[in-house]
Amino acid sequence: MKNLKEQISRMNEIMGEKDNSSLEVYEFQNYTLILSNDPCDIFTYFNVDELHGLSYEDCLSYDNTTKDAYIAGLSNIIPGTEKKFLFLNKSRLGNCKQKMGLIMHETMHLSLELHNHNIMEMEEEIISWAEEEAYKIFDLIWEISRIVQFLSLRFVETIRD
Ligand SMILES: [Zn+2]
Repeated sequence: MKNLKEQISRMNEIMGEKDNSSLEVYEFQNYTLILSNDPCDIFTYFNVDELHGLSYEDCLSYDNTTKDAYIAGLSNIIPGTEKKFLFLNKSRLGNCKQKMGLIMHETMHLSLELHNHNIMEMEEEIISWAEEEAYKIFDLIWEISRIVQFLSLRFVETIRD
C-alpha cells in the first residue's frame, strides 16, 4: 500500500500517454487501416487541413461524441499517393452490431474503389472482399479492446496489492 500514490500517478501517466496516442495504423497490401478514438486525428496523421472535402477546422469545432461525430468512418485515397486508406473512429464503434455495420459500410466503399465499381461483373467478389476485410478488422479491434481491458484489470489488481 505504501506505493499506492506512485502507482496511481504511473497509471495516470500511462492512461495520459494512451489518450495522446490512440491512433493505430496498419499497413495492408491494398490499403492502410487507420484507427483512432478522435476523428480529427485523420487530418493530423496526413498533415492536411482539407481531406476529400472534409475540413480539420470543422472537425475540431464539431461536438464529437460516441453518438455523433464529424467522421464515423472514411475510405478514400491517401493524399499525394495512389494508395487507399480506411479510417474508423473507434468512439463510434459501440456495440458489436454497430461495429460490424460501420466496418462493413467502409469496407464496401473501399471494395468498390478497389474493383473499379465494376459491379456488373464483380458483384460477388466486391461484397465478399468487403466481408472478409470486415471480419479481419473486427477481430483486430476486438483483440485491442480485450488487451486494454486486461491491462486495466491488472492495474486494479496491482493497486489492491
Ligand atoms: Zn458511406
